[in-house]
Amino acid sequence: MNARLDVPAADGAVQRVAVVGGGVMGASLARALARAGHAVDWWAAELGDAASGVPVALLNPYRGRSGRAHPDDLAALRVTWRWDAELRDAGLTPGAHRSGVLRLADGARQARAFAQVPGLQPLAADALPPPFRSAHGGAWAADGGWLDPRAWLAALGSDAAAHAANRRCQRVVALERAGAGRWRLIGDGGEPSLHDRVLLATGAGAWPVAWVRALGGAPTFERLAGDVFPTGLPAPSVPLAGASYVGPVVDDLGFAAAAIGGHHRAPGPAPDDAARRLVGNLGWAWPELAEARLRTDAAWWGVRAHGEGNRPQLRELAPGAWWVGALAGRGFVVAAAVAEAAVRAVATR
Ligand SMILES: Cc1cc2nc3c(=O)[nH]c(=O)nc-3n(C[C@H](O)[C@H](O)[C@H](O)COP(=O)(O)OP(=O)(O)OC[C@H]3O[C@@H](n4cnc5c(N)ncnc54)[C@H](O)[C@@H]3O)c2cc1C
Repeated sequence: MNARLDVPAADGAVQRVAVVGGGVMGASLARALARAGHAVDWWAAELGDAASGVPVALLNPYRGRSGRAHPDDLAALRVTWRWDAELRDAGLTPGAHRSGVLRLADGARQARAFAQVPGLQPLAADALPPPFRSAHGGAWAADGGWLDPRAWLAALGSDAAAHAANRRCQRVVALERAGAGRWRLIGDGGEPSLHDRVLLATGAGAWPVAWVRALGGAPTFERLAGDVFPTGLPAPSVPLAGASYVGPVVDDLGFAAAAIGGHHRAPGPAPDDAARRLVGNLGWAWPELAEARLRTDAAWWGVRAHGEGNRPQLRELAPGAWWVGALAGRGFVVAAAVAEAAVRAVATR
């Protein structure tokens, strides 16, 4: 295990950094900041119903009907693949697969739009990988893939610990200014701790009023829920991306099966017709789905946060305190790059 190196701030004092949040953003921050040499206290309670507990995460920057990718998402995906290589080099099993990602065209117009997108390779109808089909063909994103979120989070946590991040399995119940530019955090274990910098990666959850007062503001974002259902069908050789998608879910023994998902509804448990709707959305592309026995008892639902301009947010709300989040539907694509940006922000403050 590496020794923890306390990084001096500009005034020569030791920087002690708190990261709050056990999702992919918090885990990525803890890893990046610890590897950069900061003394990291990582407040990571149980994942519970956090969005990062999603059963499968597609790594797909080619989004929307046009399939166009934001340049920042393409750059972020390259960072994610670099992290995947680094984690493997460290002897960890991050559960990421550079399989490529499939988009299907639902009409000639969408097929023409896909053909204009750099990075997407057009596929004719007879060249689509099974089990998927479309009379209009589709497009192939060779730089995409998917990951098993449990494995990815575990690998990030192990690497953060190997770089001496101190994981506290507690929720933060109090956050307040402590004078001299520091922040005092108190976990539900009751023990207070002082920090020079605080990064709050609390996902789509609401903040207590006292935090908003202490920080002089709250994050602003829209909350959108979505559902994922195991299909009982074999995992596809490649994931299918789109507003409704198909990807492999990995069970405790490491076997993958197909799951379908989508997310465009108000927060709350899945409505009774959620599975039927997803089957309706995807049946044209995957006919066997109509005969599948969807495990509605094993449905997963979660809430994701969408920020300004639908872009991830790294915002200093008060001196030394950042909100880091609003990762929308591509948190596993962007979290590594956002974490590296946060390392730069913390160092230059
Ligand atoms: C249905 C669905 C499908 C998705 N599919 C994909 C996909 O295919 N690919 C992809 O890249 N992304 C996907 N996403 C999006 C992705 O899941 C999110 O962008 C990402 O998980 C958000 O991570 P986060 O760490 O910001 O938030 P979260 O995962 O919500 O984590 C926030 C964490 O903060 C903790 N927390 C909150 N308050 C406190 C406190 N006071 N003290 C301590 N801890 C606290 C919570 O307990 C939680 O652990 C999907 C999301 C949904 C809902």
